[in-house]
Formats: sequence, C-alpha cells, structure tokens
Amino acid sequence: MLDLSRVTSGYGAIRVLHDVSLEIAAGEFVGVIGPNGAGKSTLLRTIAGNCAVHAGDITFEGQDLKSLADYQRASLGIAHVPEGRRIWPSLSVHDTLLMGSWRLPDRQTESAALLAMVLDLFPRLKERLHQRSAVLSGGEQQMLAIGRALMSKPKLILVDEPSTGLAPLMMEIVIGALRRLRQDAKIAILLVEQRIQNVLDLCNRFYILNRGQLIEPKPGEHLTRSEIEAAYFDR
Ligand code: ATP
Repeated sequence: MLDLSRVTSGYGAIRVLHDVSLEIAAGEFVGVIGPNGAGKSTLLRTIAGNCAVHAGDITFEGQDLKSLADYQRASLGIAHVPEGRRIWPSLSVHDTLLMGSWRLPDRQTESAALLAMVLDLFPRLKERLHQRSAVLSGGEQQMLAIGRALMSKPKLILVDEPSTGLAPLMMEIVIGALRRLRQDAKIAILLVEQRIQNVLDLCNRFYILNRGQLIEPKPGEHLTRSEIEAAYFDR
C-alpha cells in the first residue's frame, strides 16, 4: 500500500533522512524505533507531506505522493497523529472528533458511526465528550488525537510517540486501543516509539532508524530489546 523507495528528505536544504526504503501492506502494523534525533518524526512528516523530498519516490496505492500536498494525502486515507497531539484547547471533545471527519465526502451519513466506533474504543472520551479539550489529561489528549485521526476513516495512520509522557495506566489504555485496531486489521499503522517494548508487542515488523538511515532486521531475526540497543544505538 505504501512504498518509499530510496527517499532522501528533510527541512529546506537540510537533509535528515538518507536513502530510506520502506513498505507497508494494507492492515499491517509496522514500527520504527531509534534514538533521539534519528529522524523518526521526520519519516512520518515526509509521508504526511510536511517535509522537502530531495530524492526517491513515495507511492500510496500506486499513486505518486510527492506531487500532493498534505491535505491531499489525508484525503487519500493517510492520517497523521503528530508528537505533541496538536489539540485545539477551546474545542470540545465532541467537536474535535467531528473535525476529523470534515474531509469525508459523505460525512453527514458516516460521522455518527465513526464517532460511536471511537467512543467504543476510548470510553474515557465518552465521559468527557462535552468538555473542552484543554481540561483533558495528557493521556486523554492522546486518545483524542488518535480518535480524531480515526474519524477521517484512514487506511494508514502515522502515530508519533503515543506513549511519551503518559502515566503507566494511560499508556496501557492507549497501547491497548492500538492492539484492538490491529485485531480489526482494517487500518495499517506506522508507529514511531522510543519504548522498544511497545513496538515489539504491537507490530508485525519493525525498522530501526539511526542517523537518518533505516535498517530492517532480516526475516526470522527476533531481536530482543537489549540486542537492538547494543547493535544499533551505540549504547
Ligand atoms: P525524537 O525521538 O527526539 O523526537 P526523532 O527521531 O523523531 O527524535 P526528528 O525529530 O525527526 O528525530 O529530528 C531529526 C533531525 O532533524 C534532528 O537533527 C532535528 O534537529 C532535525 N529537525 C527536526 N525538525 C526540524 C525542523 N523543523 N527544521 C530543521 N531541522 C529539524
């Protein structure tokens, strides 16, 4: 479904990713792990359409993405849950979720079912539905950011560090929701995480990103957390 071939990208003239190739099939959960500053967020921004691509190709369901702006990529079914969540504090939880579906051509008929699906996945948001997003805890805001992405009926979600800064209970709720999405197998996820264990638990495959370069462990190579750290992160 998503295919990156030898992509070099970054910010203006600054190159952060070098010669990166990656594939994701429909419904597949793929993880990216790597140390601070490796370029993980840049990889997601490159796919979402927020970075300059200097070389290589990016296609989604056979369509060239490089010529498309971020909102056009979103319309094709690519949703981005950025680090920091980007929640509008003055909007209610309800209105924030509905904003997620505004690009859908048949949103009048579809948004009620999508909202029900999101609230079933995150019952906490149901309790908070008519409160302003500003009063949510960090974990609830993360649920809201993922819920808003799901409201756009995506085929692929790019999720950036969903567990960062969350208390253990909140992290378990968020990761548990992603696990449920994996069981449904309707949506593919590219998950960026510093917590290696979350990626090993959730994903069918994973890549390691270090200094802007991506490595995929060989098929059948089941690396443990400490082997990954020792082999790839200069630790
Ligand atoms: P972290 O885990 O700390 O979030 P990361 O692996 O997601 O790190 P990126 O945020 O993609 O890494 O950053 C990779 C490199 O790109 C860093 O050297 C960073 O300083 C640089 N960078 C990130 N955003 C910008 C920007 N808007 N303009 C210029 N350089 C940037």
